[in-house]
Amino acid sequence: APVPTHRPIQQLNDQLISQIAAGEVVERPSAVVKELLENALDAGATQITIRLEEGGVKRIAISDNGRGIAPEQLPLALARHATSKIASLTDLENVATLGFRGEALASIASVAAVSITTRTADAAHAWQIVGSHQGTVAPSSGPCGTTIDVQDLYFNTPARRKFLKSEQTEYGHCAEVVRRIALARPDVSFSLTHNGRTIDHWNVCEMARRSSQILGNDFAEARLPIDESAGPLRLHGYAGLPTASKARADGQFFYVNGRYVRDKLLVHAVRAAYQDVLHGDRFPSYVLALDLDPALVDVNVHPSKIEVRFRDSRAVHQFVFHAVQRSLAATSATAHGSTPA
Ligand code: ADP
Ligand code: MG
Repeated sequence: APVPTHRPIQQLNDQLISQIAAGEVVERPSAVVKELLENALDAGATQITIRLEEGGVKRIAISDNGRGIAPEQLPLALARHATSKIASLTDLENVATLGFRGEALASIASVAAVSITTRTADAAHAWQIVGSHQGTVAPSSGPCGTTIDVQDLYFNTPARRKFLKSEQTEYGHCAEVVRRIALARPDVSFSLTHNGRTIDHWNVCEMARRSSQILGNDFAEARLPIDESAGPLRLHGYAGLPTASKARADGQFFYVNGRYVRDKLLVHAVRAAYQDVLHGDRFPSYVLALDLDPALVDVNVHPSKIEVRFRDSRAVHQFVFHAVQRSLAATSATAHGSTPA
């Protein structure tokens, strides 16, 4: 076994701290796509373009028509622990934005070649910063909004680069992240290109239409709308009928306050609601959004924020279970009622 080397305790430099953090925040190209999309949505964008090259490893360029960044703030966007989204513990406990850690862009910039081109509505022209928070801010051109261009992911951390899978696999993960986010935001248009080819383009529309576009017609023809509230909890979206169930769990989309999550408690609650109508080897399909007071849920559990913790998890479980079960029961009752004896 290697003998541990002993060195005096030293403060790590900023670049290395960011590269260590990048291991958690940016485990693969799709994680970059997720962070950039969340930033665009937090900036109020209604139109987002995602351009990928070589599965995102070569390039991820995301443009939005959001509020942009003022030139004097541009270095801060790339600085560690710098955010416009929270300023206090109270803000953190009530956070309504998708981001708040202020470390995504700094982490990405420590393991890739990054540039930000941005223009606010009141600026005469766009501005650009290249590289890191130490880069110079120079005049540029472009429309209102922001483009973040990330090239050559892990070019300076070859050990991490080795963990990347094939272009097709990395692309698949990126496309999945785009689908997840686009599914929750029919009020925003998304366009996705890979190696110059347009793969998806979804215009602003209603939830019903966006979910058919993304989940396909099988789901569209076999889904039950749900919209139930109880106290501070609201569950809305669609539960797929048993005929829309799948052999794999890849048709399950759950959002908490607009954030895609994969939460054991929620998956279990929905699964239990299907128990009477679905064989044990089938997976229900659904798009469900749980909205609640941000103070009742902790999203600060993991850097990728895919896990959440509820203040009262029993109440959430019961609510989701009953809401889904009731809507499934209501249709089977209607179906039976309308069947001639
Ligand atoms: P966080 O999202 O947690 O605040 P990030 O590192 O992702 O941290 O972004 C840092 C800051 O840069 C954000 O707080 C925001 O003010 C600004 N920013 C990032 N992306 C955009 C964007 N697309 N449009 C406008 N501002 C942005
Ligand atoms: Mg962010």
